[in-house]
Amino acid sequence: MPTSAARNSAALGRILLGDDLVQILIQAAHQPDQRLDFIIAEAGQLALRRGGLYENFLKIARYKDQGSRLYDKDGTLIFADDDADESDRPEVDRTALRQMLLASLPAEMIRWDHRLHIVRPLDNGTYELVLESGTAGPFDLVVGADGSWPRVRPLVSSYRPQYSGITFIEFGIDDVDKSHPELAALVGCGKIGVEADGRGLIEAGNDHIVPRPIHALPVGHHWQNRLGITLLGDAAHVMSPFGGEGVNAAMLDAAELARQLLENEDWKVAVKTYEAEMFDRVIEPAEHAAEAVATELSHLGAELTLQHCQAHLDSRLQGSAA
Ligand SMILES: Cc1cc2nc3c(=O)[nH]c(=O)nc-3n(C[C@H](O)[C@H](O)[C@H](O)COP(=O)(O)OP(=O)(O)OC[C@H]3O[C@@H](n4cnc5c(N)ncnc54)[C@H](O)[C@@H]3O)c2cc1C
Repeated sequence: MPTSAARNSAALGRILLGDDLVQILIQAAHQPDQRLDFIIAEAGQLALRRGGLYENFLKIARYKDQGSRLYDKDGTLIFADDDADESDRPEVDRTALRQMLLASLPAEMIRWDHRLHIVRPLDNGTYELVLESGTAGPFDLVVGADGSWPRVRPLVSSYRPQYSGITFIEFGIDDVDKSHPELAALVGCGKIGVEADGRGLIEAGNDHIVPRPIHALPVGHHWQNRLGITLLGDAAHVMSPFGGEGVNAAMLDAAELARQLLENEDWKVAVKTYEAEMFDRVIEPAEHAAEAVATELSHLGAELTLQHCQAHLDSRLQGSAA
């Protein structure tokens, strides 16, 4: 079985390591990624536990950076959750997480610089991968973990992600504690939301500017099982990132597909069961993500975001009091 690509296929490969089930991980190229993720207990952390990597994860997880704040357009603090370090959604640098997963696999399992062009069905029911560098296969099962614009999805689904109407503009502020201590103080430990034009932030930012248009597949996206092809992560259910669920959903997919493959004698049954459970599992996070985009675009966006943050804080405090 080949799987394309990187972090979440690495999670799958890691859990299946030793069972000779994964032959190769196909990966386009090394790409540094400055983003952060929140790795939640019942999804991303569970996958890391199953892969035997939880202790390593604790070394890169930042439990103290789980706070959140909201400011209005005049810079007035309207919401603060500064004591969230007991929560179980620690922040982690995406590159560190990916390195940790990749380092846990034998180097020969990963084929770097192997951009996938198409997956070609063969007459005997297996598949061949047509790569920039040649062909690979035949394979009984191909797992597409190749993100929002995958080469594998068209074999099972004709849906393409739709633009949400929102584009994130990503940049960093270098050495912010020293270069702009006043901004660092606004942020505190975690994330902030500010309803403003952001001019001050842009002036302080570095030149590494990346536009990220936000796309999503329809809530409830699914396909008819096709022998020998499956998907995980954004390839299966890309959603807006407002709920902070995408990485977690993808890691849980990897963990669940691995579990089914290990527990079922018949890999065909394993894949069918994985797909049926995954389709159900992602409906709720996909609905929340769709609602969050609608909130951002609403003229009541600031008010609704404040209500959402307050509800989140209340439920966390109730949970810790119980
Ligand atoms: C702006 C933004 C912020 C986000 N913030 C968060 C967050 O805080 N928390 C969270 O949980 N989620 C967040 N997400 C969502 C998260 O990034 C995705 O859900 C997650 O990365 C999905 O993982 P994946 O492995 O399915 O896809 P990807 O991370 O996209 O990985 C796909 C891999 O496939 C490789 N690939 C693609 N095409 C080919 C090819 N043809 N051949 C070979 N390899 C290929 C790519 O190089 C890449 O390594 C955010 C998303 C965005 C856009």
